[in-house]
Amino acid sequence: MVNGSSWPRGDVMRVSVLGATGSIGASTLDLIGREPAQFAVQAVTANSNAVALAALAKKHGAKLAVVSDPAAYAALKSTLAGTGIDVAAGPAGLEVAAAMEADCTVAAIVGVAGLAPALIAVARGQRVALANKECLVSAGRFFMANVRRHKTELLTIDSEHSGVMQVLETRNRDQVVKVTLTASGGPFRTWTAEAIATASLEQALQHPNWTMGPKITIDSATMMNKGLELIEAQHLFDLAPAQLDMLVHAQSIVHALVEYSDGSVLAQLAQPDMRLPIALALNWPRRRPTPTPRLNLATAPALTFEAADETRFPCIRLSREAMQRGGGATAALNAANEVAVAAFLAKRCKFGHIAQVVSASLDLLDGRGLLGEPQNVGAVMELDGETRRVAAETLAGLGDGR
Ligand code: NDP
Repeated sequence: MVNGSSWPRGDVMRVSVLGATGSIGASTLDLIGREPAQFAVQAVTANSNAVALAALAKKHGAKLAVVSDPAAYAALKSTLAGTGIDVAAGPAGLEVAAAMEADCTVAAIVGVAGLAPALIAVARGQRVALANKECLVSAGRFFMANVRRHKTELLTIDSEHSGVMQVLETRNRDQVVKVTLTASGGPFRTWTAEAIATASLEQALQHPNWTMGPKITIDSATMMNKGLELIEAQHLFDLAPAQLDMLVHAQSIVHALVEYSDGSVLAQLAQPDMRLPIALALNWPRRRPTPTPRLNLATAPALTFEAADETRFPCIRLSREAMQRGGGATAALNAANEVAVAAFLAKRCKFGHIAQVVSASLDLLDGRGLLGEPQNVGAVMELDGETRRVAAETLAGLGDGR
């Protein structure tokens, strides 16, 4: 948690949900729908899923609904005609939604597409509940500088980071030795490198513990997700790369561990259910009852831990190396990964190509001297665009990879 700690300020919390039609958006609106006296929905947004967005806007009495894809505007407008809900589209519409007066903005758009609206929400100086880790991987330095400048109350809704937030003792921040994020290991935790390289899309989408959107599900299968999360934690909690580690924990019950200088290790445990970190971000600093199933350690499966295998999951090494190098490398890592994952989701490349494309793109950009520290968000987005071009060329060079 960064800045402030003072909710509730009034009776009703006004919430905007950017990325309302996604997995995090659905969990957020599920929680809000359970406590209608406590929350009011301001703006909801989607990319192109106008029908689902319109249904959510009506159900929750939103004031504004926005699709970022202008082609979806007509469908949104006609579905919401006569409801009194305002509609808008395109990047300008997304800006209006992000800037709308709200006590909390949930930033749950997937990918770097969520960066600009999240920065607009940050600039309002109200609470931002951040799911979009790609914002911090691409532009963490600038994002956090904006959070400080606008005194924004930033709360994470990534489950491992929420765990860290809960066990990080404010009074002993200088005594933190190591922060460890756990990883389920994904569907290929026990697979050989050869089998992983040619895994099908259907197999990669079978996450053992979490139901999430397609991009993060593939990131979990490559374990790039945990690498992105280390970079996210570096910025959120102002830690050095050497203070960050990961541990494979197949049961996803222990989410994070913080080791202090006296040898104490504090951990956060809960059943895997995103509604818990979301509820905590909405209600912070209070805890309120959630529908999350209770944890009973007497009947829970045995908790196991193992080191992450960087040979079978090369995305871990790629992300660690990028974190060591700094902002240019992490922005490029994120962009190349977004391109490669989109290609895999569209069945245009093999699973094993994802790490290859990321690695080759970073090498090419490094060779051209483009991985230096960007000096502003504009430079981050320029590098993002160039990386996407390089990654697309690298993918094309693989031929028909299906
Ligand atoms: P989903 O794919 O389920 O949802 C993504 C949302 O973003 C949808 O509302 C989608 O709209 C919208 N969107 C997609 N592309 C764009 C775009 N170009 N411009 C504007 N809006 C867009 O993703 P998740 O909910 O799984 O993940 C959201 C974020 O939260 C990610 O950054 C992820 O890493 C993070 N996160 C997710 C967790 C989870 O459990 N799902 C856990 C921890 C973090 P449409 O429906 O129209 O496509």
